[in-house]
Amino acid sequence: MTDESANAGDGPTPTPGIHHVTCVAGDPQRNLEFWVETLGLRLVKRSINQDDPGTYHFFYGDAEGTPGTSMTFFPWTDLPEGDVGAGQVSRTAFRVPEGSLDYWEARFDERGVDYDAREERFGETVLPFRDPDGLPVELVAVDIPDDDPTTAWTAFVPESAAIRGFHSVTLWLDDPERTERLLRTMGLEAEATEADAAAGSDRTRFVAGGDVGKYVDVVETDRQGSSGRGTVHHVAFQTPTDADQSAMRDAVASMGLRPTQQIDRHWFRSVYFREFAGVLFELATAEPGYASDEPLDALGERLVLPGQFEDRREAIEAGLADVTVPRPDTEFAANRAD
Ligand code: ZN
Repeated sequence: MTDESANAGDGPTPTPGIHHVTCVAGDPQRNLEFWVETLGLRLVKRSINQDDPGTYHFFYGDAEGTPGTSMTFFPWTDLPEGDVGAGQVSRTAFRVPEGSLDYWEARFDERGVDYDAREERFGETVLPFRDPDGLPVELVAVDIPDDDPTTAWTAFVPESAAIRGFHSVTLWLDDPERTERLLRTMGLEAEATEADAAAGSDRTRFVAGGDVGKYVDVVETDRQGSSGRGTVHHVAFQTPTDADQSAMRDAVASMGLRPTQQIDRHWFRSVYFREFAGVLFELATAEPGYASDEPLDALGERLVLPGQFEDRREAIEAGLADVTVPRPDTEFAANRAD
Protein backbone atom coordinates (compact mmCIF):
# COMPACT_ATOMS: atom_id res chain seq x y z
CA MET A 1 0.00 0.00 0.00
CA THR A 2 1.27 3.46 -0.83
CA ASP A 3 1.35 6.55 1.37
CA GLU A 4 -1.86 8.31 2.28
CA SER A 5 -1.04 11.30 0.14
CA ALA A 6 0.27 11.70 -3.37
CA ASN A 7 3.92 12.68 -3.79
CA ALA A 8 4.45 16.41 -3.82
CA GLY A 9 6.25 17.74 -6.83
CA ASP A 10 7.43 14.51 -8.42
CA GLY A 11 4.24 13.57 -10.24
CA PRO A 12 1.61 11.12 -9.06
CA THR A 13 2.16 8.25 -6.64
CA PRO A 14 3.04 5.27 -8.85
CA THR A 15 0.18 2.80 -9.29
CA PRO A 16 0.84 -0.50 -7.47
CA GLY A 17 -0.68 -2.32 -10.44
CA ILE A 18 -3.93 -3.59 -11.92
CA HIS A 19 -7.10 -3.17 -9.82
CA HIS A 20 -9.59 -5.08 -12.00
CA VAL A 21 -10.24 -6.11 -15.59
CA THR A 22 -13.73 -5.90 -17.07
CA CYS A 23 -14.80 -8.04 -20.03
CA VAL A 24 -17.77 -8.72 -22.26
CA ALA A 25 -19.41 -12.14 -21.97
CA GLY A 26 -22.46 -13.85 -23.47
CA ASP A 27 -24.68 -16.17 -21.45
CA PRO A 28 -24.51 -15.24 -17.73
CA GLN A 29 -25.02 -18.79 -16.41
CA ARG A 30 -22.23 -20.18 -18.58
CA ASN A 31 -19.97 -17.33 -17.46
CA LEU A 32 -20.68 -18.09 -13.77
CA GLU A 33 -20.07 -21.81 -14.17
CA PHE A 34 -16.75 -21.33 -15.93
CA TRP A 35 -15.26 -18.61 -13.74
CA VAL A 36 -16.53 -19.92 -10.39
CA GLU A 37 -16.48 -23.66 -10.87
CA THR A 38 -13.86 -24.42 -13.52
CA LEU A 39 -11.40 -21.65 -12.60
CA GLY A 40 -12.30 -21.59 -8.91
CA LEU A 41 -12.63 -17.84 -8.40
CA ARG A 42 -15.06 -16.51 -5.83
CA LEU A 43 -18.12 -14.56 -6.98
CA VAL A 44 -17.44 -11.54 -4.76
CA LYS A 45 -20.22 -9.34 -6.10
CA ARG A 46 -23.38 -9.96 -8.06
CA SER A 47 -24.72 -6.69 -9.35
CA ILE A 48 -25.90 -4.84 -12.46
CA ASN A 49 -24.22 -2.70 -15.06
CA GLN A 50 -24.80 0.78 -13.60
CA ASP A 51 -25.00 2.22 -17.13
CA ASP A 52 -27.33 -0.56 -18.36
CA PRO A 53 -29.29 -1.98 -15.39
CA GLY A 54 -30.91 -4.73 -17.50
CA THR A 55 -27.51 -6.46 -17.63
CA TYR A 56 -25.68 -8.23 -14.83
CA HIS A 57 -22.25 -7.26 -13.62
CA PHE A 58 -20.39 -10.20 -12.09
CA PHE A 59 -17.18 -9.72 -10.10
CA TYR A 60 -14.88 -12.70 -9.52
CA GLY A 61 -11.92 -12.45 -7.17
CA ASP A 62 -9.92 -14.12 -4.46
CA ALA A 63 -11.54 -15.09 -1.14
CA GLU A 64 -11.64 -11.46 0.03
CA GLY A 65 -11.97 -9.52 -3.20
CA THR A 66 -8.49 -8.06 -2.72
CA PRO A 67 -7.60 -5.22 -5.13
CA GLY A 68 -5.66 -6.77 -7.99
CA THR A 69 -7.72 -9.97 -8.08
CA SER A 70 -11.09 -9.11 -9.62
CA MET A 71 -12.12 -10.08 -13.11
CA THR A 72 -15.53 -8.65 -13.93
CA PHE A 73 -18.01 -9.34 -16.72
CA PHE A 74 -20.96 -7.74 -18.43
CA PRO A 75 -22.92 -10.67 -19.88
CA TRP A 76 -24.66 -9.13 -22.89
CA THR A 77 -26.45 -12.06 -24.48
CA ASP A 78 -27.33 -10.35 -27.75
CA LEU A 79 -23.92 -8.94 -28.61
CA PRO A 80 -21.89 -10.40 -31.50
CA GLU A 81 -18.57 -12.10 -30.84
CA GLY A 82 -15.68 -9.64 -30.81
CA ASP A 83 -12.23 -9.99 -32.23
CA VAL A 84 -9.07 -9.23 -30.29
CA GLY A 85 -6.91 -6.66 -32.05
CA ALA A 86 -4.93 -3.44 -31.77
CA GLY A 87 -6.25 -0.97 -29.21
CA GLN A 88 -7.33 -3.69 -26.80
CA VAL A 89 -6.15 -5.69 -23.83
CA SER A 90 -5.33 -8.83 -25.83
CA ARG A 91 -4.52 -11.19 -22.95
CA THR A 92 -5.36 -11.23 -19.26
CA ALA A 93 -3.02 -13.37 -17.18
CA PHE A 94 -3.47 -14.73 -13.64
CA ARG A 95 -0.91 -15.95 -11.10
CA VAL A 96 -1.04 -19.59 -10.06
CA PRO A 97 1.42 -21.41 -7.77
CA GLU A 98 4.60 -22.84 -9.21
CA GLY A 99 4.07 -26.51 -10.09
CA SER A 100 0.29 -26.26 -10.59
CA LEU A 101 0.11 -26.19 -14.41
CA ASP A 102 -0.16 -30.01 -14.60
CA TYR A 103 -3.23 -29.75 -12.39
CA TRP A 104 -4.70 -27.07 -14.65
CA GLU A 105 -4.08 -29.00 -17.86
CA ALA A 106 -5.74 -32.08 -16.37
CA ARG A 107 -8.68 -29.96 -15.22
CA PHE A 108 -8.98 -28.36 -18.66
CA ASP A 109 -8.88 -31.79 -20.36
CA GLU A 110 -11.59 -33.08 -18.03
CA ARG A 111 -13.82 -30.08 -18.67
CA GLY A 112 -13.19 -29.58 -22.37
CA VAL A 113 -11.48 -26.18 -21.98
CA ASP A 114 -9.77 -24.91 -25.13
CA TYR A 115 -6.08 -24.46 -24.21
CA ASP A 116 -2.75 -24.17 -26.02
CA ALA A 117 0.72 -25.54 -25.39
CA ARG A 118 2.69 -23.90 -22.59
CA GLU A 119 4.96 -21.00 -23.53
CA GLU A 120 8.06 -19.59 -21.88
CA ARG A 121 7.98 -15.83 -21.41
CA PHE A 122 10.52 -13.73 -19.50
CA GLY A 123 11.63 -16.90 -17.72
CA GLU A 124 8.11 -17.86 -16.61
CA THR A 125 5.81 -20.61 -17.88
CA VAL A 126 2.48 -19.50 -19.36
CA LEU A 127 -0.58 -21.68 -20.05
CA PRO A 128 -2.89 -19.92 -22.57
CA PHE A 129 -6.58 -20.84 -22.82
CA ARG A 130 -9.93 -19.36 -23.77
CA ASP A 131 -13.10 -19.00 -21.73
CA PRO A 132 -16.45 -20.17 -23.22
CA ASP A 133 -16.88 -16.82 -25.00
CA GLY A 134 -13.46 -17.08 -26.61
CA LEU A 135 -11.82 -14.59 -24.24
CA PRO A 136 -8.05 -15.21 -24.25
CA VAL A 137 -6.77 -15.87 -20.72
CA GLU A 138 -3.46 -17.14 -19.37
CA LEU A 139 -2.20 -18.80 -16.21
CA VAL A 140 1.38 -17.96 -15.22
CA ALA A 141 3.22 -20.14 -12.69
CA VAL A 142 4.89 -17.98 -10.03
CA ASP A 143 6.26 -18.40 -6.54
CA ILE A 144 3.49 -17.36 -4.13
CA PRO A 145 5.10 -16.13 -0.89
CA ASP A 146 3.65 -17.06 2.51
CA ASP A 147 2.77 -13.42 3.14
CA ASP A 148 1.08 -12.93 -0.25
CA PRO A 149 -1.62 -10.23 -0.08
CA THR A 150 -4.15 -12.50 -1.81
CA THR A 151 -6.20 -15.23 -0.14
CA ALA A 152 -6.99 -18.42 -2.05
CA TRP A 153 -10.64 -19.38 -2.50
CA THR A 154 -10.71 -23.14 -2.25
CA ALA A 155 -14.33 -24.07 -2.92
CA PHE A 156 -13.50 -25.79 -6.21
CA VAL A 157 -9.72 -25.67 -6.65
CA PRO A 158 -7.20 -26.63 -3.92
CA GLU A 159 -4.94 -23.96 -2.47
CA SER A 160 -1.94 -25.60 -4.16
CA ALA A 161 -3.36 -24.56 -7.56
CA ALA A 162 -5.76 -21.69 -6.80
CA ILE A 163 -5.59 -18.49 -8.87
CA ARG A 164 -3.99 -15.69 -6.82
CA GLY A 165 -4.94 -12.49 -8.58
CA PHE A 166 -3.69 -10.94 -11.79
CA HIS A 167 -0.26 -11.52 -13.20
CA SER A 168 -0.47 -9.09 -16.14
CA VAL A 169 -2.35 -7.70 -19.04
CA THR A 170 -0.94 -7.58 -22.57
CA LEU A 171 -1.81 -4.50 -24.62
CA TRP A 172 -1.88 -4.83 -28.40
CA LEU A 173 -1.08 -1.41 -29.84
CA ASP A 174 -0.53 -0.15 -33.39
CA ASP A 175 1.78 2.60 -32.13
CA PRO A 176 3.10 1.86 -28.64
CA GLU A 177 5.35 4.88 -28.11
CA ARG A 178 2.91 7.30 -26.50
CA THR A 179 1.25 4.53 -24.48
CA GLU A 180 4.65 3.54 -23.13
CA ARG A 181 5.21 7.14 -22.07
CA LEU A 182 1.82 7.06 -20.32
CA LEU A 183 2.73 3.86 -18.47
CA ARG A 184 5.93 5.53 -17.25
CA THR A 185 3.89 8.52 -16.08
CA MET A 186 1.66 6.11 -14.16
CA GLY A 187 4.75 4.78 -12.41
CA LEU A 188 5.53 1.60 -14.35
CA GLU A 189 9.05 0.95 -15.59
CA ALA A 190 10.21 -0.94 -18.68
CA GLU A 191 11.86 -4.09 -17.39
CA ALA A 192 12.71 -6.31 -20.37
CA THR A 193 12.00 -6.89 -24.06
CA GLU A 194 11.91 -10.16 -25.94
CA ALA A 195 10.61 -11.42 -29.28
CA ASP A 196 6.91 -12.32 -29.31
CA ALA A 197 6.51 -15.15 -31.81
CA ALA A 198 2.72 -14.90 -32.02
CA ALA A 199 2.73 -11.21 -32.94
CA GLY A 200 5.95 -11.32 -34.98
CA SER A 201 7.25 -8.31 -33.05
CA ASP A 202 8.71 -7.43 -29.68
CA ARG A 203 7.04 -7.74 -26.30
CA THR A 204 8.13 -5.17 -23.71
CA ARG A 205 7.31 -5.77 -20.07
CA PHE A 206 6.52 -2.84 -17.78
CA VAL A 207 6.45 -3.40 -14.04
CA ALA A 208 4.66 -1.56 -11.23
CA GLY A 209 5.63 -1.59 -7.57
CA GLY A 210 2.88 -3.80 -6.09
CA ASP A 211 2.75 -7.54 -5.52
CA VAL A 212 -0.28 -8.48 -7.59
CA GLY A 213 -1.15 -7.47 -11.16
CA LYS A 214 2.09 -5.56 -11.45
CA TYR A 215 2.96 -6.29 -15.09
CA VAL A 216 1.75 -4.64 -18.29
CA ASP A 217 3.17 -6.12 -21.49
CA VAL A 218 3.14 -4.05 -24.67
CA VAL A 219 3.14 -5.70 -28.09
CA GLU A 220 3.05 -3.76 -31.35
CA THR A 221 0.57 -5.09 -33.91
CA ASP A 222 -1.66 -3.67 -36.62
CA ARG A 223 -4.08 -6.57 -36.39
CA GLN A 224 -7.63 -5.23 -36.63
CA GLY A 225 -10.06 -6.12 -33.87
CA SER A 226 -13.61 -5.34 -32.85
CA SER A 227 -15.32 -5.17 -29.49
CA GLY A 228 -17.91 -7.76 -28.51
CA ARG A 229 -18.23 -11.02 -26.60
CA GLY A 230 -14.89 -12.50 -25.64
CA THR A 231 -13.00 -9.20 -25.46
CA VAL A 232 -11.80 -6.96 -22.65
CA HIS A 233 -13.87 -3.83 -22.09
CA HIS A 234 -11.34 -1.98 -19.93
CA VAL A 235 -8.48 -2.38 -17.48
CA ALA A 236 -8.45 -0.54 -14.16
CA PHE A 237 -5.30 0.43 -12.30
CA GLN A 238 -5.02 0.96 -8.56
CA THR A 239 -4.92 4.52 -7.28
CA PRO A 240 -5.45 3.57 -3.62
CA THR A 241 -6.60 6.94 -2.23
CA ASP A 242 -8.63 9.81 -3.65
CA ALA A 243 -5.48 11.96 -3.47
CA ASP A 244 -3.51 9.39 -5.47
CA GLN A 245 -6.29 9.26 -8.03
CA SER A 246 -6.63 13.02 -8.33
CA ALA A 247 -2.87 13.42 -8.89
CA MET A 248 -2.87 10.63 -11.49
CA ARG A 249 -5.87 12.20 -13.19
CA ASP A 250 -4.02 15.53 -13.43
CA ALA A 251 -0.93 13.79 -14.80
CA VAL A 252 -2.75 11.99 -17.60
CA ALA A 253 -4.74 15.14 -18.42
CA SER A 254 -1.49 17.07 -18.75
CA MET A 255 -0.40 14.55 -21.40
CA GLY A 256 -3.40 15.56 -23.52
CA LEU A 257 -5.72 12.71 -22.52
CA ARG A 258 -9.27 13.46 -21.40
CA PRO A 259 -10.10 11.72 -18.12
CA THR A 260 -13.66 11.80 -16.79
CA GLN A 261 -14.54 13.32 -13.44
CA GLN A 262 -14.54 10.87 -10.54
CA ILE A 263 -17.53 8.48 -10.76
CA ASP A 264 -18.84 6.58 -7.71
CA ARG A 265 -18.86 2.87 -8.57
CA HIS A 266 -20.09 1.94 -5.08
CA TRP A 267 -17.20 -0.46 -4.27
CA PHE A 268 -14.55 1.95 -5.56
CA ARG A 269 -14.40 5.42 -7.10
CA SER A 270 -13.32 5.63 -10.71
CA VAL A 271 -11.87 7.87 -13.38
CA TYR A 272 -11.87 6.68 -16.99
CA PHE A 273 -9.91 7.68 -20.07
CA ARG A 274 -9.11 6.19 -23.43
CA GLU A 275 -5.35 6.06 -23.81
CA PHE A 276 -3.51 7.12 -26.97
CA ALA A 277 -3.79 3.79 -28.82
CA GLY A 278 -7.46 3.26 -27.94
CA VAL A 279 -7.45 1.06 -24.83
CA LEU A 280 -9.97 2.15 -22.18
CA PHE A 281 -8.13 2.71 -18.88
CA GLU A 282 -9.69 3.27 -15.46
CA LEU A 283 -8.18 4.50 -12.20
CA ALA A 284 -9.87 2.88 -9.18
CA THR A 285 -9.56 3.57 -5.44
CA ALA A 286 -9.04 0.76 -2.92
CA GLU A 287 -11.99 1.89 -0.79
CA PRO A 288 -14.72 1.13 0.11
CA GLY A 289 -14.14 -2.39 -1.27
CA TYR A 290 -16.37 -5.38 -1.97
CA ALA A 291 -16.93 -6.17 1.73
CA SER A 292 -18.37 -2.70 2.43
CA ASP A 293 -21.99 -3.71 1.82
CA GLU A 294 -22.03 -7.48 2.47
CA PRO A 295 -20.35 -9.56 5.18
CA LEU A 296 -17.16 -11.21 3.97
CA ASP A 297 -18.64 -14.70 4.40
CA ALA A 298 -21.68 -13.82 2.26
CA LEU A 299 -20.07 -12.01 -0.66
CA GLY A 300 -21.93 -12.56 -3.92
CA GLU A 301 -24.88 -14.33 -2.27
CA ARG A 302 -27.47 -11.76 -3.25
CA LEU A 303 -28.02 -9.25 -6.02
CA VAL A 304 -26.59 -5.97 -4.74
CA LEU A 305 -28.14 -2.84 -6.20
CA PRO A 306 -26.11 0.30 -5.55
CA GLY A 307 -27.73 3.53 -4.38
CA GLN A 308 -30.77 4.65 -6.28
CA PHE A 309 -31.18 1.28 -8.06
CA GLU A 310 -32.39 -0.33 -4.82
CA ASP A 311 -35.68 1.58 -5.15
CA ARG A 312 -36.31 -0.23 -8.45
CA ARG A 313 -35.28 -3.71 -7.26
CA GLU A 314 -38.45 -5.50 -8.30
CA ALA A 315 -38.42 -4.19 -11.87
CA ILE A 316 -34.66 -4.73 -12.22
CA GLU A 317 -34.81 -8.32 -10.94
CA ALA A 318 -37.68 -9.09 -13.29
CA GLY A 319 -35.56 -7.97 -16.23
CA LEU A 320 -32.55 -10.15 -15.38
CA ALA A 321 -32.08 -13.79 -16.39
CA ASP A 322 -32.35 -16.37 -13.58
CA VAL A 323 -28.93 -17.71 -12.66
CA THR A 324 -27.62 -20.29 -10.20
CA VAL A 325 -24.26 -19.68 -8.56
CA PRO A 326 -22.25 -22.94 -8.50
CA ARG A 327 -21.67 -24.28 -5.00
CA PRO A 328 -19.19 -26.94 -3.99
CA ASP A 329 -21.84 -29.02 -2.25
CA THR A 330 -23.97 -29.52 -5.34
CA GLU A 331 -24.07 -33.03 -6.73
CA PHE A 332 -22.95 -31.63 -10.07
CA ALA A 333 -19.70 -30.42 -8.56
CA ALA A 334 -19.16 -33.43 -6.28
CA ASN A 335 -19.27 -35.74 -9.27
CA ARG A 336 -16.41 -33.87 -10.82
CA ALA A 337 -14.30 -33.40 -7.70
CA ASP A 338 -10.65 -34.33 -8.00
ZN1 ZN B 1 -14.00 -0.93 -14.19
